[in-house]
Amino acid sequence: MTKGDGMVRMIIDTDTAADDSFALLVGLLHPRAQLEAITIVSGNVDFDQQVRNALITVDQAGRGGEVPVHLGARVPMARPWYAAKAHGDGKGNREWPEPAQGPSDEGASEAIVRLVNESPGEIDLLAIGPLTNIATAVLLDRDLPAKVRHLWIMGGCDNSVGNVTAAAEYNFYVDPEAADIVLRAGFDVTVVTWTLTLAQATWTQDQLDVLEAIPTPLAAFFTALDTPNKEYNARVGIEGSTHPDSLTAMLMVEPDLIRADSRCFVAVETRSELTRGYSLFDRQERRNAPNTRVIDEVDAQGFFDRYRELLEAGARPRE
Ligand code: CA
Repeated sequence: MTKGDGMVRMIIDTDTAADDSFALLVGLLHPRAQLEAITIVSGNVDFDQQVRNALITVDQAGRGGEVPVHLGARVPMARPWYAAKAHGDGKGNREWPEPAQGPSDEGASEAIVRLVNESPGEIDLLAIGPLTNIATAVLLDRDLPAKVRHLWIMGGCDNSVGNVTAAAEYNFYVDPEAADIVLRAGFDVTVVTWTLTLAQATWTQDQLDVLEAIPTPLAAFFTALDTPNKEYNARVGIEGSTHPDSLTAMLMVEPDLIRADSRCFVAVETRSELTRGYSLFDRQERRNAPNTRVIDEVDAQGFFDRYRELLEAGARPRE
């Protein structure tokens, strides 16, 4: 996805809890990332808290006032909102310095449509929450998929057990109608699943100790936000902390970390109450033509190392 050493221009659509903040740090601080906007969608925690978490993250990265934060959908397209319980308040359940930057007056989907139309074929979208804002942007501009360079989605589970119900991963479960619209819209799209994340982007306590020992305020920010997730995981039988959103962000700017991918047909169940948000992955082309690139294997150690380097480099110095 990266042209040589070129910059990756991106918009990050996020329901900002902890790992969303870690993905934002990739956009805000990775040398090849050019983050043009952050858009907020209803998801993990209370909407206004998510806005605050995003603004705090921009501030902690030393980028206050440089990247606009746009407010999007406060509820899914057709269903009541369902909060994830894994995240506390998403900012480590503690206070941080008050960010000077406030949210933009322009709405999230409107900002996505405007930015993409100003630079057709040049902007990648990263969707790390429910797909409500992206689906709304498609409804505002039906030609949007052809003008987005690439859409990266963290969502779904590869015909396997989900993390919110046995059938479904959280982002697809919360707004299956939006996921359905987006997957049918004709984007050039890559999906990073919960299934892959759990197997290849779960960091052990030994790895987290390495990050905690990094003497930068940014590393302390990371550990403060990550600890509630690790504690929640321990209660549900996952050892360590999981990093689906930050993995997806890192793959955009470090595509060499992708070891194996495949093309297949992905669709989301919207009608069944039992399997709401279930994502079907069909690898039999004779049944369904592929519509999605799926990441099958990543360089797990490389992902950890790149993230460690990001925390070691720390926030951007204030000018
Ligand atoms: Ca998220």
